[in-house]
Amino acid sequence: MTATAPRPGPRVVALGPRPETGLLSTTAVGSTNRARVLQALADHGPLSRADLARHSGVTRASIGGVAAGLLTEGVLHELESGTGGSRRIGKPSRPLWFADRGPLGAVVLQPGVVEVGVVASDGRVSVRESVALPPVRSAAELDAAAVDAVRTVLGPTRQPLIAVGLALPGFFGPDGEILVSTTIDTLPGSRLPALLAAATGTTVVLEDDARALALGQRWFGQARGVRDFAALQIGAGIGAGIMLDGRLLRGPLVASEVGHMTVDHDGELCRCGQRGCWETLASSRWLHRRSEQAGLPEPETMTPRRLTELADTGDPAAAEVLDDYAGHVALGIVNLFHVLSIPLFILHGPIVEAGPRFLDRLREHVAARTMSALNALPTITMDENATRSGVLGAAAAAITHQLGVSL
Ligand SMILES: [Zn+2]
Repeated sequence: MTATAPRPGPRVVALGPRPETGLLSTTAVGSTNRARVLQALADHGPLSRADLARHSGVTRASIGGVAAGLLTEGVLHELESGTGGSRRIGKPSRPLWFADRGPLGAVVLQPGVVEVGVVASDGRVSVRESVALPPVRSAAELDAAAVDAVRTVLGPTRQPLIAVGLALPGFFGPDGEILVSTTIDTLPGSRLPALLAAATGTTVVLEDDARALALGQRWFGQARGVRDFAALQIGAGIGAGIMLDGRLLRGPLVASEVGHMTVDHDGELCRCGQRGCWETLASSRWLHRRSEQAGLPEPETMTPRRLTELADTGDPAAAEVLDDYAGHVALGIVNLFHVLSIPLFILHGPIVEAGPRFLDRLREHVAARTMSALNALPTITMDENATRSGVLGAAAAAITHQLGVSL
């Protein structure tokens, strides 16, 4: 990685609703059949040739030849038997999956901190560091501090990256210009995607942080092969990456501001300028304020983990705040379930550390508020990979673009 002389080719790709053109050349992707095979793997995870034929719509007669071509070119490789696809009696078939095409860079910008990683295309994380950012007053200062942090972490690795995924909390335009962020005041006007492309000499793929988490769960995590789920990030703000029928919801504004759905008509003023947003009742700001009202110790730095620990020691005020927190988080989940029938919610962020007691209460609140006529409840679970999910999400955004598949 060099600071002043970017190699030719770095550019910015903002993942959006428009059809993507992948980095694989048209000759590498080849025919429609080959594209269908790659898409079926992205949609379902590792598959045997028989299952691949079924899911891709490529005939059994053709699948062998298509797979052989992709194996020869190193686009795919064979996994050990029994690591994917359906079980069958007889000779086990070796599932096919994407071959490692080289390391991916991952950059996750959050308030006051940037997380930087290097991830293989099978999800192994070889580098992961969080770098605290100094206080900044403008987008230019934020950009400089973030690029510095990325250089500090990636510079010594000297690994040529095939692409860099950049996940951040904000709306962005089709050319990667950051338009709005309700979480980081200095982010609008940032040129970080272009600056990172110049600094790393490779393509930077930009994605909203919550949607990146959903992509990470889909490629590497608990949602591989799952077509309908939401990755719900609950911390300083609330964001959701919602996947329905195997595709991420983006909408024409490429916004995913579920934290700003109104849940209280006369509620608190939100950072977005409206009142009673879900964030005003379920973000860490609410948790700090509510902890102060309840007389809990060090309320201004209260975390879900410490709140649970206090509740577990028998502190009745902490138990009450924890229950309120579960009830407020449940409000948004129930709304999303009623509107979109999302069957699986994977929770991300500091809330993961609230533990099983909180999760039980959350499920009870969701059950109590869900329309009984639906005769169904969503599954709610915690991210099992909390320390690595950020970089896996950013890397997943890069790999989605790099393979030219649609998610
Ligand atoms: Zn709001």
